[in-house]
Amino acid sequence: MSKPDHSDSSDQHNDTMKKRKTQIDAGIVRAGEERGVMILLTGNGKGKSSSAFGMAMRSLGYGFRVGIIQFIKGKQLSGEELFIREKHPEVYFEQMATGFTWDSQDRTGDIAAAEATWAHAQKLLQDDRYHLVILDELTYMLAYSYLDEEMVLNALRSRPEQQSVVVTGRGGGEALRQLADTVSELRDVKHAFKSGIKARKGVDY
Ligand code: ATP
Ligand code: MG
Repeated sequence: MSKPDHSDSSDQHNDTMKKRKTQIDAGIVRAGEERGVMILLTGNGKGKSSSAFGMAMRSLGYGFRVGIIQFIKGKQLSGEELFIREKHPEVYFEQMATGFTWDSQDRTGDIAAAEATWAHAQKLLQDDRYHLVILDELTYMLAYSYLDEEMVLNALRSRPEQQSVVVTGRGGGEALRQLADTVSELRDVKHAFKSGIKARKGVDY
């Protein structure tokens, strides 16, 4: 068996990099539009909400106004909640009032809670002072038909031009995907919890 010839690999590499740079530069010229984006972080792997909070940190770093609405499943306190309430009270921060649970038998109560929480979201989506709005776990409200899909999509569509929105959660439907400018699907390759490791403070919540 003959050995592979690497004599010209450095030239080839430089060539490839040159081509790639040309492509990237052309992409940068094309991507000249300046407007807020809608980002959907979905899938069953870990990293959806924590990525959204990462973007909140980025915005806050520039002194931008941030609003976060959590359509959360339980009443579990989280590090991000502590951080915002204690260190960043300027962030508009609301959570669904009831501590909604998956197996709740009180559908009417859940719908009322979802709608009351949505009212905060709607307000932010009409306020152009907000650079970034995070609607954490919103997808479940659509999956369970707790919120009207058209109402939600319309509010997202008609938000201020420079405002970005991050929606997190599994599922959420095709229309939401279509509307989003960026969709990332977190895939569960493996998760520590499944090998018996307890959820970690400061990592998982
Ligand atoms: P995170 O908040 O860590 O970014 P997430 O928003 O992607 O997670 P959720 O479905 O909202 O995921 O669940 C939140 C909690 O469940 C976190 O504590 C997270 O570590 C845990 N979790 C997320 N994905 C998985 C998974 N595939 N298996 C087990 N636990 C998970
Ligand atoms: Mg989450």
